[in-house]
Amino acid sequence: MFQDLSKAQSSNSNLKDQWNSVLKKLNAEYGNEVFNSWIKNITIKNLDEEVLHFNVPTRFIRDWITSHYLDKIIYFLNQENPEIKRVKINIDNSLSANMLNLDKRDNIVNENSFYSTSSSSVDEWPLDERFKFDKFVIGPSNQLAFASAKRFSENIENDFNPLYIYGGVGLGKTHLLHSIGWQIKERVSDSNVLYLSAERFMFQFIKSLRQKDTMSFKQKFRSADVLILDDIQFMVGKISTQEEFFHTFSSLLDMNKKVIISGDRSPSDLGSFNERMKSRLSGGLVVDILPAEYDLRFSIITNKYRELRERNKNTYELSEEVLSFLAKTVTSNVRELEGALNKVYTFSNILGKKIDVELTKSVLKDLLKSSNRRITIDEIQNKVSNYYNIKIDDLVSSRRIRTFARPRQVAMYLSKKLTTRSLPEIGRKFGGRDHTTVIHAVKKIEELKSSNSKFDEDINLITQMITPV
Ligand code: ADP
Ligand code: MG
Repeated sequence: MFQDLSKAQSSNSNLKDQWNSVLKKLNAEYGNEVFNSWIKNITIKNLDEEVLHFNVPTRFIRDWITSHYLDKIIYFLNQENPEIKRVKINIDNSLSANMLNLDKRDNIVNENSFYSTSSSSVDEWPLDERFKFDKFVIGPSNQLAFASAKRFSENIENDFNPLYIYGGVGLGKTHLLHSIGWQIKERVSDSNVLYLSAERFMFQFIKSLRQKDTMSFKQKFRSADVLILDDIQFMVGKISTQEEFFHTFSSLLDMNKKVIISGDRSPSDLGSFNERMKSRLSGGLVVDILPAEYDLRFSIITNKYRELRERNKNTYELSEEVLSFLAKTVTSNVRELEGALNKVYTFSNILGKKIDVELTKSVLKDLLKSSNRRITIDEIQNKVSNYYNIKIDDLVSSRRIRTFARPRQVAMYLSKKLTTRSLPEIGRKFGGRDHTTVIHAVKKIEELKSSNSKFDEDINLITQMITPV
């Protein structure tokens, strides 16, 4: 029954091997771009009792890794070696000179001098200082989510509960969740706000099972005034963790405690997820965040850049041209945009000079390559209508005759498979259809593909037309 448990079993290999296999998993999880930009910068120092010490070259990298990848790193480490209880990331400036094979140590801001190193333990997950409402830039794609989050944290009496925020990666869900936490703490200073990712919830749950201490586990969560759970999609397929979470969640709601949850998809798209859970989620307020449009991307990046400069005492400058180049080219999500900014800024920092657009392009070579290759729904609609010899207007129309309906389903299916767009977004692109229509299309095409090999070939052919190698 507890299949999650077996995954967390220990292995006996030594630290270096353990770390290598964690690296492999991280690479598989996040892909080469993230791996090479961030994770590769980690060197392990030593294991001291139960604390594993890491070195990274700069404070940016440390903060970035801490807020984005540390959860996963700790989780994978624990699978390899349950002894490791905490991770401490130190900054070693000499590493940044090595990064470029330059000995420019004198030019590097000594980041240790004005920031103390922080440590993260498995048990606590503090709210991130940078994720507050006033740092969240609002645009058409996120204003509903923002307004709901704000209202949720300002109202003492819940007019809706729980709040569920969903959207693709890097669009600001975690930022809003932390903001709610901060705001509630500010309003009611002694309120017990518990923030954690679904992954960490599972980790703690397994730990409590192992230590035969589920009582205090339950106690801890049920005594929260506000529970914020990030990335619930992580629990898909993890039955025992879901069950446990459902009990925690229901008892909090029954006590009228606030619950905020984020996910990468709407409650109804959580597939085989606990049905009662899904319906309780849908019973609260459900809002989505869409990818940011250019103006919003530009304001976000300008703000982030100002923050960076403040934190670094205005040492290095990027031109507006570089900022607008970034906002124009990195379109996938805010996290990648911010990653690109940090990378460019770090390089300017290390090189000790201003970076222009040309240099930006070469620093971000890999990232730009992959975002240029990103497939759009328009492109899919174009290729599919060509293939079936129908007009795009008919493809997205409401006409239900087979000649149009089947290609439409094919195009919806491919949009789901080949882009990162959410189901509601796809529905909108197809004449404002509901996301359930998209789900239906995906199912239908999958069925046809497996029962009809000619049809399967057609789909493969169209896919190849869209993604030439
Ligand atoms: P998600 O949880 O949806 O994957 P995050 O909340 O981690 O995304 O956001 C990724 C990064 O982008 C964070 O550093 C966050 O501060 C930033 N970000 C996203 N949206 C906004 C926004 N509207 N304003 C400012 N920063 C944003
Ligand atoms: Mg997140």
